[in-house]
This record gives sequence, C-alpha cells and structure tokens, in this order.
Amino acid sequence: MCGIVGYTGPRQAYPVILKGLKRLEYRGYDSAGIALVNSDGLNVYKKKGKVAVLEEEMENLHINSHIGIGHTRWATHGEPSDRNAHPHVSQSGNIAMIHNGIIENYSQIKKELLKKGYTFKSDTDTEVLLNFIDDILQKNECTLEEAVRIALRRIVGAYCILLVHKDDPETIIAARKGSPLVIGIGKGEHFLASDASPIIEYTKEVVYVNDYEIAIVKPDELILKNLGNDKQTPFITKLNMEMAAIEKGGYDHFMLKEIFEQPTTIYDCLRGRLDAEQGTIVMGGIQKYADQIMNAPRIIIIACGTSWHAGLVAEYIIEETCRIPVEVEYASEFRYRNPVVHKGDVIIAISQSGETADTLVAIEKAKEQGAVIVGIVNVVGSSIARASHTGSYTHAGPEIGVASTKAFTAQLAVLTMVALKIGYEKGTLNKERFMYLCKELSEIPAKAEQVLKLDDHIKEIALKYKDAPDFLYLGRGYNFPVALEGALKLKEISYIHAEGYPAAEMKHGPIALVTSELPVVFVATKDAYHEKVVSNMQEIKARKGIVISVITEGDTVSPTLSNDVITIPAADEIVAPMLSVIPLQLLAYHIGVAKGYDVDKPRNLAKSVTVE
Ligand code: GLU
Repeated sequence: MCGIVGYTGPRQAYPVILKGLKRLEYRGYDSAGIALVNSDGLNVYKKKGKVAVLEEEMENLHINSHIGIGHTRWATHGEPSDRNAHPHVSQSGNIAMIHNGIIENYSQIKKELLKKGYTFKSDTDTEVLLNFIDDILQKNECTLEEAVRIALRRIVGAYCILLVHKDDPETIIAARKGSPLVIGIGKGEHFLASDASPIIEYTKEVVYVNDYEIAIVKPDELILKNLGNDKQTPFITKLNMEMAAIEKGGYDHFMLKEIFEQPTTIYDCLRGRLDAEQGTIVMGGIQKYADQIMNAPRIIIIACGTSWHAGLVAEYIIEETCRIPVEVEYASEFRYRNPVVHKGDVIIAISQSGETADTLVAIEKAKEQGAVIVGIVNVVGSSIARASHTGSYTHAGPEIGVASTKAFTAQLAVLTMVALKIGYEKGTLNKERFMYLCKELSEIPAKAEQVLKLDDHIKEIALKYKDAPDFLYLGRGYNFPVALEGALKLKEISYIHAEGYPAAEMKHGPIALVTSELPVVFVATKDAYHEKVVSNMQEIKARKGIVISVITEGDTVSPTLSNDVITIPAADEIVAPMLSVIPLQLLAYHIGVAKGYDVDKPRNLAKSVTVE
C-alpha cells in the first residue's frame, strides 16, 4: 500500500511523477502529493483524494524542476486529509520525504523530539521519522545520506522512504525495509517506484533494492549501500513486461479487463509447463524440491484475502491428490501466535504482489524453524519470491484492479499443477487419473472463454438484485472457498454485506437470515456432493429465499429450484473453481458499476498490502 515515485534526470520531473502516481494509484488513494526541487528550493503540493484532485490543483503551475518525489497514500496513521498527505517537510524546511510502511516505534521517538521542542503538522509516523532524520542531520553536520543511515538503525517497522533536500537539485536518497522499491536505470536519468509500472515506459533495466539498503540516486549515478555504509553491487534485471499490460485496452475498468483476460492468463500460466498429451508437468522450482514436498509431514499454506481462498481450494486438492495433511493459515494470525513448525514442513506462501507484509514476516518466521518455503507469487522479483527457497510464478501479468480476479485463477492453476505433479510422482495419484486431470486442466482456458460469454446474462441478474442489502454465498467441497471468494468480491466492490458459508453449515445459524428478500448465491457445479447442495437449495427455497445458482450444463434439477441460473461448462470438481468463480466476479463487478462506485479503487482498500 502507498505508491512511491521519484525521478532525477534531464526531463521535467512533474509529468513523469504524475504519470507514475496514476499507475500506482491502485496502492492507495486517500491522498496524493508531489515535492519538486529547483533553485527556489522545495515545492510541495498535496491534496486529500485521488491523484486527479492533485492534478487539478497543480494544473496551471509550471514548475521547472528535474528532480522530484510523489506519493499516493493508504492511510495508517492519521485520517486521510491534506495535512496528513505526503510528502512531509521537516521542521527545518530543508527536507521533503515520502514513506510507504509503518514506523512502529514512532511514539517513543516522537516523545523525544517533542522534548527537544519539535512540533508536528501531521498525525503520521512518517513525519516523526523525517524530523528524527533532520535532527540528526543538524546535530551532526553530516550528509543527508549519513543522517538517514544513523536514523534507520533505530527504526522498528517497515519503510520505503524517498527524500530530497532543498539545496540538492540532483540527489534522491532512498531506503527500504519491508516495503518494495524498484529503481529504473535510464541514460543519464533514474526512476524510482514501488513497482515497475511507472518505469517500463522509459527503461527495462531495473534494480530491485533489498531490505536494509540505502540508495543514493543522481541522474548518472546509483550507489547502493547497506546500513553499515558498505557499498553493494546493484544487480540489474531486465523487465519482462509490456506497456499494454498496464493499460485498460478499451475496457471501462481494469477489473473488467482482468476478468476477461482470464482465458489468456490461465493459458499463460499453463503454457510451457503442462503437456496434457504427453502427461507431463514441468516446473523447475518445484522439481528441485519435489522430494522435500512429497515427503513433507505437513504442508502449511500461508496467505491473506483472495490468496487465502486459493489456499483453501489447494488444501482440498493437495490432500486429495498427494495425501499430505494441509493447513491453511491467515498470515497475520500465523505470525503472531507461536505456531508449531517442524524441520521438513513445507510452507506454501501465496501472494499476488509478493509484497504482502504479513505473509513475508510469516515465512521468515517459518524459515527460522527449518521449513521449506515455496512461494506462489505473481510479481517477478518481489520480496516473497526472493525470500522463498523455491516457487513458481503465476504469470498473470500486472493486476491493477484492487479486487483480485485473474491472480486468483492463476494461483489456482499453479497450485493445481503443483498438486498433480507431486501426487503423480509420489504415487498417490494414478496415471489414469493424472492424465485425465491434466486434460481437464488444459481445457480450462477454452471453457473460461465460454463462461465469459454469459456476461450480459450476469449483468441482468446484477441489475435485478443490486439493491439487496445482504447476500449469502453457499458452496460445498471445492466450491466452498469459491463461495467465500464470491462474497468477498461483492463486499469489496459493491459495499453490500455478503457472507460466504459452507452450504451445509447454514442450518447452524445463517439460515435464520433467510427471508424472501435475501439473495442466496449457490455455487453448485456438479461434484461428489451435488445432491447434498440441491437439498440445501430446497431448504432455502422452502423459506422463500431467492436462489441464484451457478450450475453445470446438463443439470436439470437446480433450475427448478432457482430464481436465476448461470450455467457453465462441465469440468472435474478439482479444476471447476477456476470456472465457477468467474460469474461471481462478474456479478460483483456489474453490481458495483450499477451502484455508481469506482470498482477499480474501492473505498478504504488498496492493493499490495505492505502494512500489517
Ligand atoms: N504510515 C504512513 C501514513 O500513514 C504510510 C502509510 C502506508 O504506507 O500505507 O501516512
């Protein structure tokens, strides 16, 4: 959360930074701000609200500057407001700083600074760190770089910070721990950002800054140091990303574009790995650790949000095909209790961004206890990818809509391949079933294409029920996590209260909510429990609830019990979630749009959750 951009070089800095902020806005949109340095010193503009509000504010200002930093905020400390917006300016007026993360020991440092006579213009932890740096700078008469280094040795928490000094129209000082930072290397210019999307337009050569590193960035020089002041060699990576991937490409919203990309993204994820004809699954990272995985006494899946739902589906698949006990944990819970992890346990960490703070800390903790870490992430080179022993990328391309869609189905595709591969090599999955499931998996992209053809029909259903205050989502077996995911999508995008539940559990409580006003979405594709789900449908119908069902073609019973039916192609229950979730994504999308909400930037949310 929080997007950070910086530029130093021959171009005008303002347009580069503004464009960068627009690309990073998915990371937070509580406020936006820019600091530009020129011969007048620091020029700082910041505004509550989205980047467009700041852009309007700055419209007629023509500031000649070749260096600047910009921030789009997801508030943690202090309400969204102009005064809490970044960049913050130090009390001396010399330094401007932006920050992504949380300074956990800020209140202690603030107390000390208050005693020294400092006053604060904002409620943020960021301003405390900034004045702490400024105080060191003044007391020690050192360079800004040194002051940052001294200050950071005392800091507990997560940060990516960018600083500029009013008397230095060339240098950006940057540092990170826990929050991401990418530096793009141009010809006589450098670009800094939270992810590569603001950079690819200008250069494909980037350096991913590591934790506890400080970067001293000038137009034609990039120096990396650790907190001990030793120089580090920057490792330059080539970006494998095209501009089209971060543009809307004719769709009204990124979310819709990403939903419609799923046949391609699932295909891209399987491509080069799954050969259904030959019955082979090639996954280098998994192969390397195949013995450890198949002999693991236990697999623990750690994730948050939508990725946690993908983990729940994987739990069922892995237990079924590999006969290894699986636990699925919320990363935030796992890291703060005292979990029992044995040497040899395998941790699968799932994260779209690869930067999810809770997941990152959780895997570090498990690693210390001897576990093997397998990262399933979308963003290449991200922190979780680097912190894992091995893993597999989902190759879904940049996901910009805040509500995750294509990353979820790509995660399922990867996790299914891992399970099938391990199950087959272990011998818990026989050849015939393995070949059959490989074929079923390979057919998912084409079937997803079929599901997307139902878009108009789903939109009609959305318009019919958009004013309902509550929704219930029910499913059993592999479809239970899909029901959870459907409910989450609706909450995120349309702000309608929705609950996901195992269909059979509803009689232990939620059935009390059923009235003739309550839409109940059944994820009821054909599987081993189908008759049971149909009975649950009967139970809802008997209480006059409204039944919307997602069913498999050929099912003649469910339509007789449903007010609205969405019929999708048949698929084995193991791979069906990749199809049955799509109508739920579209339903949430159309309801959100019909209610007039900004579905790409739902309120209070942001993507890439780099704060705990
Ligand atoms: N803690 C800072 C603030 O509240 C930055 C928040 C973030 O990175 O999300 O302003």
